[in-house]
Formats: sequence, structure tokens, C-alpha cells
Amino acid sequence: MKELFPDAQVTIGPVIENGFYYDFSYKRPFTPEDLAAIEKRMAEIAQRDLPVARKLLPRDEAVRFFREQGELYKAEIIAAIPAGDPISLYSQGGFTDLCRGPHVPSTGKLKAFKLMRVAGAYWRGDSKNEMLQRIYGTAWAKKDEQDAYLKMLEEAEKRDHRRLGTQLDLFHLQEEAPGLVFWHPKGWTLWQQIEQYLRRVYRDNGYREVRGPQILDRSLWERTGHWENFRENMFTTASENRDYAIKPMNCPGHILIYNKGIRSYRDLPLRYGEFGSCHRNEPSGALHGLMRVRGFVQDDGHIFCTEDQILGECTAYTALLQKVYRDFGFDSIIYRIATRPEKRIGDDAAWDKAEHALVEALRSAGVEYSLSPGEGAFYGPKIEYSLKDALGRVWQCGTMQVDFSMPGRLGAEYVAEDNTRRTPVMLHRAIVGSLERFIGILIEHYGGAFPLWLAPEQAVVLNISEHQAKYAAAVAERLRAGGLRVVADLRNEKISYKIREHSLQKLPYQLVVGDKEKQAGSVAVRTRGGEDLGAMALEEFAGRLQREASAP
Ligand code: ZN
Repeated sequence: MKELFPDAQVTIGPVIENGFYYDFSYKRPFTPEDLAAIEKRMAEIAQRDLPVARKLLPRDEAVRFFREQGELYKAEIIAAIPAGDPISLYSQGGFTDLCRGPHVPSTGKLKAFKLMRVAGAYWRGDSKNEMLQRIYGTAWAKKDEQDAYLKMLEEAEKRDHRRLGTQLDLFHLQEEAPGLVFWHPKGWTLWQQIEQYLRRVYRDNGYREVRGPQILDRSLWERTGHWENFRENMFTTASENRDYAIKPMNCPGHILIYNKGIRSYRDLPLRYGEFGSCHRNEPSGALHGLMRVRGFVQDDGHIFCTEDQILGECTAYTALLQKVYRDFGFDSIIYRIATRPEKRIGDDAAWDKAEHALVEALRSAGVEYSLSPGEGAFYGPKIEYSLKDALGRVWQCGTMQVDFSMPGRLGAEYVAEDNTRRTPVMLHRAIVGSLERFIGILIEHYGGAFPLWLAPEQAVVLNISEHQAKYAAAVAERLRAGGLRVVADLRNEKISYKIREHSLQKLPYQLVVGDKEKQAGSVAVRTRGGEDLGAMALEEFAGRLQREASAP
């Protein structure tokens, strides 16, 4: 940059995931041609194999040095660092920069890098300040690692759930409802498959499904602490001089259900599940397709239990989550336990027990996990479960959060064996998290080619000519009667055109019917991959599809 654009001023340039960026102040916008030229010069400087030298300077001397160089932003950054330890600088050729380091010993070590794009960024992230130009780059130890990364990005772009959402006619978003999703028939069918699957999982694992109200009085949110701490994230409304909030979470509703009745230790653990619709007022700039929305549904669940039951519940929950992720086609899970922070409620004995339970649950599951000491919530430790998708990207979806606080705040109690009244522990848990986001992940994981049990449309029947239109409609009808999701495309179009069009829709099966099939009562079966399975008797195919299509 400084060799090609000597008047550009350097500001900050940190390492980020998979690369780096650097913010510059310059009189005109950088163009794609500029990026190409800069990248070429970077390669030349790498070729020169200049040694990189580290040097320490007292702060004030470092400020003076950068002022003399005309690098006023750098000087400003350093001037703001408290005086004390000396400042470390790195130099190569004629260029010196402020950096904590470490750096490579010489520029010749830099083999694989690429500049990606340029974007605007405010000086020090403050919109009142000057707009700088941020150049993003990626850098790798080896060329083939970089190639793999660039290929992954290309593939991610092709699988972008917003693009596929339109192409497959699943959903849309529009300005009248920022961050809220319009589900189209096919998208809503996909949703229903997921919800019905999860509903069965709840039922088979001792959860009772409940449903709480959408709008709750301010006084309740004051008791939970949300009105004070979470207010700008809540949508509020008023009626008859009372303030309400549209629920940002389902937990208080479940406690109010729990509280309606005298609970004994014999009732515990008590598990509630809800496909809970929540709203959170995210800043409009942070919204992103289905991945970050303002209105979402969680596969939420709360377990009321004693401290001694935490271990059993976490163990069962972890096994359940593993099965669910596997069933959705995710083989790799990453586990993280966040433990007690400085500021917390509850006594140490309770924390000891809860943390021990989380660790023991993962240990007995035989999985590897990492610990994040001090990163738990003030009200309890938690496990975070992340899944890895087909492109190797990691998405945190599941949680198991121990809560020593909210049940007490809302007066939840149970009668213990010794007849005293105790406060239950509450476990907040979600397996897939927000269904909207999970569907976004599924769309990208499968590139829109969903497994048969999830596919919104499992097969399409295509007639070759008008002569088989009635038969094609009857085939679709027969398959639908068996509970399958099948459509017929009877348009008077060339069969090759119809096949091509439905291939783009990524349906698992295409069933072509001509005179031969009509006479034989059969269908010619093509798979999504373009494989021709030949003619099959309709009843035989119906049986096969039904077996294949049942949810795991
Ligand atoms: Zn909760």
C-alpha cells in the first residue's frame, strides 16, 4: 500500500478468522484494479524476502516516530495506550508498523494470500468519525489450504439460503416486515416436517408440550430482570394504561404454568417443551436472511429438577441431541462448557454440583469438550453444542443452561421429602435453537437437495404428451393417498424441458409416464442425481417410496 499509494495513511489492521483486514484513509475509493495491483506488489515484496525486525520504543518516542512519518492515525492510537510498558514495532524494508506481534521472521515466508474485497469502515467504529476503506484479505500457511478455503466460499455462495430460498420457492423477506419471514407453501411444508419430527422426539423423551401467551405484563418482566436489562431488545405495547412486552423468551411462561399447582419432589424432573414464538428487536443492520431475524420459533424446553437430578438430565439430553443432529445429517458436534463467572448468584456448593454434572454428562458420553472458565451466565453454567455443516462451518445451535435464579425470582417451589419448601433448579435447553436459523443451516448444508423425509415435494409426475395426462394425475393421486408429497406437472411442454426445470427444483424423484407406462400401470423413475432406475410398477414404487420416506 505504502509503495503504491504513498499518501494513504495506515490506521488499524488486525488478524481475523481466515485472514486479516487493514483500514486506510485515502483521497479516493480503491477499485478492484487497485486490489489486483496491491496483491501483485505484495507477492513481489514476499519475493524480496526482507527480514522482519522487532523493536521496542517507549510510548512517547513511538508517537513521535509515527508523527514524523506522517502517520497521524497510528500516532493517535499509540498516544491512547497507557504509558508504561514499551510499544513493540515491526519493520521490513522501509516500512514500520505498530504491532503486538509475533510476525514471520522474513517476508519470504508468506506464500499464500489473496485480497478479497474493500468495504467502508468508520475510524474507531464510530459513525461520527471519518469513513475509512477496509481491505479484506485471506492468508494461509500453504497454497492448497487457501485453494480449499476459496473453493468453500464459492460453494457457500452457491448454497446461500437466501438464493436457494427464492429458487426453490421456500420463503421470502420484505421491507414491510424486517427480520420476519414469509413462509411459502413449500418452505412451510419443510418446517412442518421438522416440527413434527421434534414433537415426536419430545413425546418419546418425557416432555409435555405447552404453550404460553405471546404478550405479558411489564411487572412480570420486571421480576425476571428483563425490563431493566433487556428492554431495548424487546418489542413493547400498551393497552388500558398497562405496559406489555412481546415475549423475547418462553421461560417465564413455563414457570407460571409450573406454579399453578403444588409440586412435590415426586413430580420432578418435570419437563415442558414449547415451539415458542419469540420476538427480539435486533438492529436492522444485523439482520441476515434466516440466520438473524427478529421473530423466530425456538424448540424450547425447560426442565424443573433438584440439584441432584442435573447430571441425569444433562446425560439424557446430550444423547438426545446427538440423535437429533445425526438424524438431520450432521455427524460432527463440538462441545463447550462455560463455567462460573466472577459475578454470580447461588452458593459455591450449588455451582460445584452443577459444573460437575455438566462435565460428567459429557465425559460419560465419551466426547471431547473444551472448557471456557468464567464464561457462564451469572445465574448458572452451561453447555453449548455446535454442529459442523457439509462445508465445515460451525454453527452453535444447542444449549443446556443451568439456572439458579429465575425459578426463585418467580416464586417456583416444590415440597421436598422432609416437607420443607424448596426452589427447583431450572434447565433451559434447545436442541436446534431457532427453527428459522436451523432451516437456513439445513438449506445450505444440503444445498437445497433435502433428504426424502424432509423434501417439501418428494416426487413429481411428468407426462410425455396429452395422452397420459389423466394417468399422470392418477399416479400422483395414488402416491398422495399413501401420505407422500407428490405433484404432477401436466403442462403441455417438451418432456426434456420439464425434466430440466424440475431438476433445478431438486426433487428427489421424477416419474416420467408415456404410453408404455400408462399401458403397463408403471412409472419410469429418475433420481435427483440424474440416474435412470427404469420402469417400476406403480404399486412397487409406492411401497418403496413410503419405506424410504419415513422420518428417522
Ligand atoms: Zn429458557
